[in-house]
Amino acid sequence: MGIPVIDFHIHPIYYDYYRESTLEWIKKLQSPQSWDEFYTKNSDPAYFADYLKRCGVDYAVIMADHTPIVNGMCSNEYVLNFCKDYKELIPFASINPYMTSNLAVELKRLINKGFRGIKFYPTYQYFYVNEPLLYPLYTCAQDLQIPVLFHTGTSVFKGARLKYGDPIYLDDLAVDFPELKIVMVHSGRGTWYDLAVSLCRLHQNIHMEVAGLPPQKLLDYFPELEKVADQVIFGSDWPGVLDIGENINTIKQLDLRKDTKLKILGGNASQLLGLN
Ligand SMILES: [Zn+2]
Repeated sequence: MGIPVIDFHIHPIYYDYYRESTLEWIKKLQSPQSWDEFYTKNSDPAYFADYLKRCGVDYAVIMADHTPIVNGMCSNEYVLNFCKDYKELIPFASINPYMTSNLAVELKRLINKGFRGIKFYPTYQYFYVNEPLLYPLYTCAQDLQIPVLFHTGTSVFKGARLKYGDPIYLDDLAVDFPELKIVMVHSGRGTWYDLAVSLCRLHQNIHMEVAGLPPQKLLDYFPELEKVADQVIFGSDWPGVLDIGENINTIKQLDLRKDTKLKILGGNASQLLGLN
């Protein structure tokens, strides 16, 4: 296989518990499909793996979500089990800093169980990413060389607090942990696009992930995208998007160098995940 296509940002459709406002938003987006049918089909990893294949996705990062006051709960155990029979499904764990007492120990436990990275949701979990509480975990993640994802920018979900999504705090992390694989999810969506690119230009270990942004707008938001070609990562944010394959095709049409598009669609992510 050449350079794989990797979707770095997928949520399972099944949640142990959904906040009503989040569930309503997803249902509305996914209409006019029958919700029950959509939900049942996509809760089956075999069906979902096949759907990804039809979209042209070779690997996908599947993320747990411990954000009980905004989205709900999709447990680490569920995600691990969902991915276990499919090497193309790559499980990422969730740790809520206020629901775990020793973050570094928890991270090691999760990685030993088979997780390949971790996702934080600061705007839904209410913390700044440079808080000292998190530093032992970052030390551990840096040693293990696993990617750490941080939601940045706006969110449509009720209860999200935007101040925690300011990417500027990732600057501290990049300075203090120069080998930490930092992924800026949504690239500062809505408010901080220029800052997102500046951070990537300053720090080789910060990556911009573009899930949840309309792919046809990427060059409007980031006119200097080509300059950070080695740090841009594709993600869809499914089920917050109707068709992953369409997003991939739109990126293929962008006015960028061919090798840049291959890097965005999977080359960079492949390096982050250690697939090559
Ligand atoms: Zn998401």
